Amino acid sequence: MDKKIAFIGAGSMAESIIGGLVADELLPPPHCILAANQSNEARLAHLKETYGILPYSDSAEAAAEADIVILSVKPKQLRDALQTAASGLTQDKVIFSVLAGIKTSQIEEQLHHNNPVIRVMPNTSAKVGQSSTALAKGAHAGDEHLQTASELFSSIGTAVIVKEENMNAVTGIAGSGPAYFYYFAEAMEQAAAASGLPEEKARDLIIQTMFGAAVRMRESDQTPAELYQEVQSPGGTTEAAFQEMERHNLQEAFKKSVLAAISRSAALG
Ligand code: NAP
Repeated sequence: MDKKIAFIGAGSMAESIIGGLVADELLPPPHCILAANQSNEARLAHLKETYGILPYSDSAEAAAEADIVILSVKPKQLRDALQTAASGLTQDKVIFSVLAGIKTSQIEEQLHHNNPVIRVMPNTSAKVGQSSTALAKGAHAGDEHLQTASELFSSIGTAVIVKEENMNAVTGIAGSGPAYFYYFAEAMEQAAAASGLPEEKARDLIIQTMFGAAVRMRESDQTPAELYQEVQSPGGTTEAAFQEMERHNLQEAFKKSVLAAISRSAALG
């Protein structure tokens, strides 16, 4: 990719993305990856040492040098970050924002130009290059900007393009999603422990079971219902588990839980 990218905010999410870009050799540091962090010089020193990025103490200077500016501060730090970087955010800059719950319109109204803005929703699996990321474009962004974002965020997992109005649903399933699977894994570990299987053995089995199911689902054209029915046989162990789950109306309860996450995302935005 023939672009210079500047991160405004060099915290945990910025590091995940930088790690993916460097590992993928999509952008060669130091000249193409710049980062500014308001007051935390130690973070910048760490990123420079680990990934070879170019550190900036001045956000406006970093933005001025870049083609793409990735906003990666906390939502409550947005106003301050945009004000600090303002003189560098000229009309030619494309802005990507990873801020959870912040609409493109909220960013657009704080900019001094009609910059293209792409909203990006990664999840915590970005840390291991396996994020399920969604992208949506703002009022002044075009398909070419989505294309660039898609290429860039594919370096930390997969990237899908959605309408911005669907971002709350994305947050409920993919943003919060990893936590749901950890929660089910915990319940499986507890059941295994209650039956005497050592925790570390159980964890290895559960991890590979989740991974295998995910790969199977990705590679099969069967629906989730078809896949779980395939595992069940009459009078078998899976059927026993499903009878208990149905007795507790677990699927309905889980569906309501995901809808609660989606509603909360809508309320926060
Ligand atoms: P973080 O670790 O707190 O990183 C934010 C960084 O921005 C901090 O290093 C902070 O510096 C710096 N900063 C604060 N104000 C600034 C300013 N005015 N100019 C430049 N830098 C400034 O947060 P994070 O976990 O990376 O999250 C960043 C964004 O990613 C959030 O908006 C979040 O919603 C989004 N996100 C994160 C995840 C995730 O998995 N972590 C997932 C989806 C979306 P100090 O250290 O000095 O405060």
